[in-house]
Amino acid sequence: MSVGTNQIRDWRRTRLFGPIVSMALAGLVLLVVLAAFLIQRFDVASADHERAIVQRGIVEQGKELDAVIATQVNWDSAIEMLDNKFNPAWADFNLGNYLYTFNGFSHVFVIDGTERPIYAAAKGERSGLAGFVPFKPIADQLIPRIRSAELQRGPIKPRPGKNNILIPPIQGNAFAQIDGQMYVVNATLVQPDFGKKLPKGPRAPITIAAKPIDQVMLQAFADRYLLDAPMLVKTTYQSPARQHAVLQAPDHTPLAALSWIPAKPGTLLREKIQVPLLIGVLLLALLAMSVVRRGAAMVQELIASEQRSKHLAYHDLLTQLPNRAMLFEQLRALLAARQPGGTPLAVICVDLDRFKEVNDTLGHHAGDLLIQAVASRLRTACPDAELIARLGGDEFVILHEVSGTALLDVLPGRVLATVSERVGTEYGWLEVGCSLGIAVIDNPGVEPSEALRWADIALYRSKESGRNCVTLFEPEMDEALRSRLSLEADLRRAVQDGSLRMVYQPQVDRSGAITGVEALLRWDHPERGPVPPGVFVPLAEETGVILALGEFVLRRVFNETHGWQQARVAINISAVQLRASGFAALVMRLAAEAGIDPARYEIELTETALLGNDPQIAANVDALKRLGFSIALGDFGTGYSSLSVLQRFAVDRIKIDRSFVSALENTGESGALVESMLKLARAINLSVIAEGVETEAQKERLVLCGCADFQGHLTGMPLPADETAQLLGVVVPAGRKVRRQG
Ligand code: C2E
Ligand code: MG
Repeated sequence: MSVGTNQIRDWRRTRLFGPIVSMALAGLVLLVVLAAFLIQRFDVASADHERAIVQRGIVEQGKELDAVIATQVNWDSAIEMLDNKFNPAWADFNLGNYLYTFNGFSHVFVIDGTERPIYAAAKGERSGLAGFVPFKPIADQLIPRIRSAELQRGPIKPRPGKNNILIPPIQGNAFAQIDGQMYVVNATLVQPDFGKKLPKGPRAPITIAAKPIDQVMLQAFADRYLLDAPMLVKTTYQSPARQHAVLQAPDHTPLAALSWIPAKPGTLLREKIQVPLLIGVLLLALLAMSVVRRGAAMVQELIASEQRSKHLAYHDLLTQLPNRAMLFEQLRALLAARQPGGTPLAVICVDLDRFKEVNDTLGHHAGDLLIQAVASRLRTACPDAELIARLGGDEFVILHEVSGTALLDVLPGRVLATVSERVGTEYGWLEVGCSLGIAVIDNPGVEPSEALRWADIALYRSKESGRNCVTLFEPEMDEALRSRLSLEADLRRAVQDGSLRMVYQPQVDRSGAITGVEALLRWDHPERGPVPPGVFVPLAEETGVILALGEFVLRRVFNETHGWQQARVAINISAVQLRASGFAALVMRLAAEAGIDPARYEIELTETALLGNDPQIAANVDALKRLGFSIALGDFGTGYSSLSVLQRFAVDRIKIDRSFVSALENTGESGALVESMLKLARAINLSVIAEGVETEAQKERLVLCGCADFQGHLTGMPLPADETAQLLGVVVPAGRKVRRQG
């Protein structure tokens, strides 16, 4: 059971926390992936931005170099020294040497209007014009644009009186790879600035200046644009760790690439925050774990409390056995699983015999102990039962598969024997028996309630046939029970329609004088004829009809007997009536209504009614005594009456049971017993009457034992009220029999 419960618990926990934990993990993974993606995107965006800046920087760098050349070439002197006439010394000083020394242009050439080189310098020194040959291709790409701009510009118009002629430089630059070395090559048209010297023809000379892209230049560029580890690489160079900006020829031929290690702000950020982030995530995980743990504990508690309430809903608190609800559920499932010709199922109803006596005599706690002991004994006796349930009170049900016929021969006997073993408790040894009713269900489609009803009917039979026995349900029994049920309905009706009547049996003294009568109830059933009180009184007690019936008896007896001044009237009262809280009040009200004198009435109780510790019974008996009623104890000697009970309830009279009286003629033992009862009664000042006196011999024996009062067929049959009234006051001679009635 506990394994099953734990499995359910684990399953429930997994079902509850599984999604939470997986969602949390999925969330974490998603977060990590998202963060990685963002970092990567951040780096990519930064690299794109950096590349754009580098591209722009390269253009700017070209422009700056253009500006350096422009200052040397947009100059009246340049027009004069390179165009109007050609002065190589001027060119050496202002171009070849100047541009190399101050700006790192390693090669400078001057091309005349016919595009022929007229000047060449390498590394600040004039060189041969052949040095132009490698630079010619790039010059050829740059010059046409310059010439076309020159054409567009048209002839230069002087501005007399003004200090300049505002001619923007006409120039262009490009990357070129010459003899394996990358250059920035600039071509600038020689133009005047103040216009004091003007070009001699429509095409002025053009300077070509080439600056090698070396490590110094690269480093300066990198410093300016904050690039890490710059280098010039072939366009085929690939490195995932580096960024590249391609340097192209004017015709878009890729020549080389500027390469650098890109700044990775995302990665940098990640590196900077990863430790605190990891700590944060760990802390969060710890927090989440503690939340989950606490949640798990709460859920565990909830599950446990749910299990508890489920257990309570399906189990009997006292014995921990399954209860009626569980029984019905299981029985339904077991019956539904029956196959035609398969293993039959035995539904065994167990009811304790004389349990009520223990409960009444020793109190509910003793009863509880007994029930617990019986429950554990049933478990031992039926180890292979499908289910053992307690229906409440002293009723149990066992469901057992009947795998072999031997089972039904053995099991019921084992249950009877085990339950009947006495139980040692703080109240001493307790002993009960039990009755069994068994219904064997071997066909499918039987309803649980029907199966239980059949077993119950069989149980009833067991009870009827003297208890401590086993009855197997037969379909005819159903009919018997139905008739019992109809009898119950008839009895309820009889209480209302008055088909019940009272008879009175005389109680006489030794001389035969009637000292009193016992009121006895009679029921003349319209179809069945007279039904004996021994049948209908227990039925009324079981069904609760006894309360209405008892009220009928009291009312009827008070009304019929209130004028019988000479005789005491005994009225039988059931223990069920005595247990009702308003009973004494009811008696008082009825007595007042009928105007009777309680002193003339004797409340006749059975021994068992007084045996328990029921405070309600004690209260009712006390109240009745205070009202003036006397108390007689019927069936004396058959129960457990003790002296203390007699004294506690201030019993006035005991009635020696018929069984002792009838045995008087047969054994000496009974005589001794009756004698000792009488002695006891005398010792505690109780009057005694012997019941069921049928023969003179019995009466004589009783007289010898000291008994002074008698009731029985010998001294008077029960008679209707009117006949009893006639009898009263009449001395009945010894041995004379009154007309038989009832
Ligand atoms: P009980 O109180 O012991 O009543 C005496 C029973 O013994 C009566 O049976 C009576 O007819 C019978 N009896 C009297 N003399 C003799 C005799 O010489 N020989 C034999 N064999 N029997 C004799 P009854 O009337 O059938 O009543 C049976 C039981 O039913 C009573 O036993 C009593 O416990 C119960 N009872 C009867 N009337 C009432 C009633 O009005 N209220 C309650 N609560 N119980 C009643
Ligand atoms: Mg009686």
